[in-house]
Amino acid sequence: MRVDVITIFPEYVEPLRAALLGRAIERGLVSLGVHDLRNWTHDVHRAVDDSPYGGGPGMVMKPQVWGDALDEVCAGDEPPRLVVPTPAGIPFTQEKAREYAALPRLVFACGRYEGIDQRVIDDAARRMVVDEVSIGDYVLVGGEVAVLAIVEAVARLLPGVLGNPRSAEEDSFSDGLLEGPSYTRPEVWRELAVPDVLRSGNHAAIDRWRRDRALERTLDRRPDLLAALPEGALDQRDQAL
Ligand code: SAM
Repeated sequence: MRVDVITIFPEYVEPLRAALLGRAIERGLVSLGVHDLRNWTHDVHRAVDDSPYGGGPGMVMKPQVWGDALDEVCAGDEPPRLVVPTPAGIPFTQEKAREYAALPRLVFACGRYEGIDQRVIDDAARRMVVDEVSIGDYVLVGGEVAVLAIVEAVARLLPGVLGNPRSAEEDSFSDGLLEGPSYTRPEVWRELAVPDVLRSGNHAAIDRWRRDRALERTLDRRPDLLAALPEGALDQRDQAL
């Protein structure tokens, strides 16, 4: 997969080259391009923003600079998926992460200030699929942190990136539920014991226990997820819980 990030703070997305993702890049599973938006400015001040039409606080990112940057970075035979992080976007979910993991190329446009002139998005949408996505109902200062979150969620789904692919299959959201609690050695720590069933070796009982805890946790913390499960997703035992 090819990932390109356009930002006025290239150093902000450097953590993409660390740890698991860094190894995926070294192994050629992901190729990453980070581009400084100011390379496409046309004035001595290298300005990327201007005051908003209609008045109001803050500044808006200029269309000319973004237009030229996207023309160059998105060039190629097949248009990439353009992802524009914004709190006003559709929620970024595990389902979206799976969708992106199946694509060959993603380009991220990191906004700052009050965001990017809307015509940049409208113009790009004439040539490629553009997703305006939000990573949560709160407002960050810029799109870079959102890109770190999205690329990490996507890259770990790529074949070969995780040591054990079952990790991704059994994570929260894969079956529509939150994952239940996890434990490791020692058996007792600060007088808190690991649940007996997890040490029983009875795999059917362990699976049932994990499923029950996942259901309880989801009901407690995210009842909206339970309500969104497709019909037939819960068996009789689930429903009795
Ligand atoms: N004026 C915008 C609004 O109210 O919708 C907020 C702009 S925010 C201060 C600046 C940039 O941070 C955005 O263009 C976007 O790139 C990023 N950003 C902020 N919150 C975000 C979120 N929840 N999800 C994704 N990106 C976000």
